[in-house]
Amino acid sequence: MADKIEPTFIPELLWGVSPADLLSLPRSYLLDKGMKEYEQVISLLRGKYQEKLKGGAKCSVCGINFADQIDEIWEFHEGKAILKEIRPVCRLCREARDMKQFGPGSLDEAIDWMTYVNDQTKQDSELAVGKAYLRWKEVNAIRRWEIKIESGSTELSSDDEKKLESALNLLLSMKHLRG
Ligand SMILES: [Zn+2]
Repeated sequence: MADKIEPTFIPELLWGVSPADLLSLPRSYLLDKGMKEYEQVISLLRGKYQEKLKGGAKCSVCGINFADQIDEIWEFHEGKAILKEIRPVCRLCREARDMKQFGPGSLDEAIDWMTYVNDQTKQDSELAVGKAYLRWKEVNAIRRWEIKIESGSTELSSDDEKKLESALNLLLSMKHLRG
């Protein structure tokens, strides 16, 4: 078992501007927004994501289920959102990491899974979720963000990581313009 589940909630202003969101944008959107120069790095990133999931990779957190998605691990510090790692995970581990922040479903299921995977008491899990929620309220109050890609986090070259960083910050600035 590589890593434990650490609940982390994404500040609302950063919703929709993750690398995974970038991968989901239609080509027409990129062209429309003058982001053609990022097509290549997006395609390289897509390759990395696919590579991590190919061949029935196991979840890097629980080691039990097959990984069917990539979880992006962020740190939020003084207005900087720092991408630390991308890891192949199963649905249960991803949903426990963000406590299903973005989707329907019961919080209880996520807490039970975290308790099991982290091999801790339910009380420990609830405490961790409570802390993560308080932290989220703090970072959610921050109105200006800059996205940073920690070197090596995506396994792209450092030039490509810089390009990815500027593509994400561009998405972020467009989001702010939309209000
Ligand atoms: Zn898992």
